[in-house]
Amino acid sequence: MPTKKTDSATPNNQKDSIEHERLLSLINSMGDGVIALDAKQKIIMYNGAALNILDLNSSITGKFLSSIMKMVDSNNQSIDIKTLIANARTPVFYRDYLLCYPDKSTVNLYMSIAPVHLGYGKTGSEGHTVLLRDITHEKSLEEERDEFISVVSHELRTPIAIAEGNISNAQLIVDKGEKKDEVKEALRQAHDQIVFLSDMINDLSTLSRAQRGKLVVEVESINVHELISDLEHNYAPDVKKKGLKLIIDLDPHLELLQSSRLYVREVLQNFITNAIKYTDKGSITIGAKARSNGIEFYVVDTGIGISKSDQHKVFDKFFRSEDFRTRQSNGTGLGLYVTMKLARLLHAEIDVHSELNKGSVFTIFIPNLK
Ligand code: ADP
Repeated sequence: MPTKKTDSATPNNQKDSIEHERLLSLINSMGDGVIALDAKQKIIMYNGAALNILDLNSSITGKFLSSIMKMVDSNNQSIDIKTLIANARTPVFYRDYLLCYPDKSTVNLYMSIAPVHLGYGKTGSEGHTVLLRDITHEKSLEEERDEFISVVSHELRTPIAIAEGNISNAQLIVDKGEKKDEVKEALRQAHDQIVFLSDMINDLSTLSRAQRGKLVVEVESINVHELISDLEHNYAPDVKKKGLKLIIDLDPHLELLQSSRLYVREVLQNFITNAIKYTDKGSITIGAKARSNGIEFYVVDTGIGISKSDQHKVFDKFFRSEDFRTRQSNGTGLGLYVTMKLARLLHAEIDVHSELNKGSVFTIFIPNLK
């Protein structure tokens, strides 16, 4: 067979060099940085990805790894790479160290160190292979997820504790067989907390669908007059309950809007419920005006307003102002975050103008999607 013939005709040193080339192209095709060290921890082989991660552009053969790589732990304590490698008698890996560059920037590093055991009876020194991967992105996702879980569990704990306390209080009062009003009040408070929990779960499920890209925009022709009058009808009782005035301000020349009725409605509902929640006197205005290729909606209130420093944070996940007046009402800090996600799906632009103690204006321009 031709292959056999070539093999047997190839001198040993040539075969070795072919093997070497194969090995080199194999490790060079890897996305992870690979560095082979001899027994003295000097570099004998490396690939392009290793140079990329270390941010170097000249040969590192013959150098000590510890002389070209600086690492710190999460407390900024420097890591002794020499000892790390010397102690690696079996494969080990690290995910919590940071690789430091001369300009003081850092990346999260995955580093695995494996000892190389030469085959039985072979002479020559042992060494190590080191694998390097930049895991900054994964780490930041992990941190975000951990923070999300901790905030959600914290946010859930308070209403559950209040609802549980009120229900057990109501049971006690019922057992004693009197004070109907107190039972009613305890149940009302428990009910409020359950409503809050259900709002939060709705926000979370919309959010999770938006984040997984599972929300589908079904474009329909929306009659804006009808939509606003529907919202007016829904929110008039809440506005009245707070002694506020509801003003509807519609451009008479509004054309049909081509967008998702469900999401446009959800965005406006978030603006309106916030306007009602954070306003104790004055009015709420819901308006819409025609703009080229779309419609601009606005919700204006004469409420507590938002400080300059808070204005850019209101769309952040779980953000709620520290203002004590905000804390007087229930809120998850998710409404505007979800709103922003929906706005992106609709290719819409959101704007907020607000002045403390005067009120806020939330505007959204929604373009026609067809
Ligand atoms: P929440 O459930 O707390 O209302 P949102 O995401 O809807 O969550 O809003 C985030 C924060 O933005 C609120 O907690 C509040 O501090 C501020 N905010 C939003 N809308 C208004 C408004 N109309 N007036 C004053 N503050 C507002």
